[in-house]
Amino acid sequence: MTTPTRVLVLNSGSSSVKYQLLDMRDTSRLAVGLVERIGEDTSRLKHTPLAVEGAETREFEGPIADHAAALAAVAAELAKDGLGLDSPELAAVGHRVVHGGKYFTVPTVIDDAVLKEIKRLIPVAPLHNPANVMGIEVAMELRPDLPQVAVFDTSFHTTMPESAARYAIDVATADEHRIHRYGFHGTSHAYVSRETAKLLGKAPAEVNVIVLHLGNGASASAVRGGRCVDTSMGLTPLEGLVMGTRSGDIDPAVIFHLNRVAGMDIDTIDALLNKKSGMIGLCGDNDMREITRRMNEGDDSARLAFEIYVHRLKKYIGAYSAVLGHVDALTFTAGVGENSTAVREAAVAGLEGFGLAVDPVLNETRADGARLISPPAARVAVAVVPTDEELEIATSAYALVRG
Ligand code: AMP
Repeated sequence: MTTPTRVLVLNSGSSSVKYQLLDMRDTSRLAVGLVERIGEDTSRLKHTPLAVEGAETREFEGPIADHAAALAAVAAELAKDGLGLDSPELAAVGHRVVHGGKYFTVPTVIDDAVLKEIKRLIPVAPLHNPANVMGIEVAMELRPDLPQVAVFDTSFHTTMPESAARYAIDVATADEHRIHRYGFHGTSHAYVSRETAKLLGKAPAEVNVIVLHLGNGASASAVRGGRCVDTSMGLTPLEGLVMGTRSGDIDPAVIFHLNRVAGMDIDTIDALLNKKSGMIGLCGDNDMREITRRMNEGDDSARLAFEIYVHRLKKYIGAYSAVLGHVDALTFTAGVGENSTAVREAAVAGLEGFGLAVDPVLNETRADGARLISPPAARVAVAVVPTDEELEIATSAYALVRG
């Protein structure tokens, strides 16, 4: 009998499912794909079979009613290439679960009790956990015999000390309502901080790293010897850095003001801060390519948005330098961090006093893998490390089921 070596990674959002099938013998991708606009008439499935030589991406547009139908469609596409979910080579399904609260500190095999706890966390993650639960339930129905593993965005941050994880509000109220700084993007921060240590030729336990995960959502973390000691997102992914559409840090009194003086209700304010703020609120664009292009053509609002974005980054770099005391590396990752030379250059500019500098040629040089962009003699390494949350999820799930 063959030893199963494949892991299906599922990232279920409220109206989408992203997936990758990996072969863990060499961590190669056998298939990748995405179902979007679930529940609409114009749902779309895009499937790329990478294991089949010469096979092309297949796209399908039409109504996909719910997550069950979406996963059935994915299973059908995989089956066409001989990669069906009924394959004995499948070892596990790894699910990205956004909120694991304080409870889930490591990837966990899902049983009824685990599923119940993930559901219990829905009040603190109303946008994400219900979709994750749907993905898990559907996958469990499709292959009840297969281990389903939850890998939580919050787990990596559960090592934060109370001094960083607790808001300075009434303790009884905070505890009753589970108001706590949980942090997110943990799978990425874990993977990228470990890869940074590898790049420096050291063990994770030997290095202190500041990770800047700058995508459409963005967060910073301070990682001491492989353990997270602070991160910029909090109870929800709204806190911290300026993001594509989220404000990041603001005075909470802005909310009272918008309610009492501007007459906005809570849902309107929620949408304003989560969906119409950040870069899109400041300049009308949330794609850093477009923002830098406009800025270079002399557009003032794009320039100001860029400056606000970078100013916030610098504040977090400074804060986390102080939190860590000694910093070995500052690492950029995710869409903006991996690609925007302008953001990297501006974020580090003027921080020579912190031992930070970027070599302009290394910063401009495009490359696929992890690389250093600081001058060779720099006191603190500055790195670009492509994140790979799917690989991290698959690796964790596989390690767990292989024992
Ligand atoms: P992510 O959420 O990690 O997929 O990042 C998406 C964001 O990355 C986009 O909204 C862009 O702002 C940014 N991005 C992607 N490619 C580039 C690029 N070549 N230059 C600058 N920003 C980029």
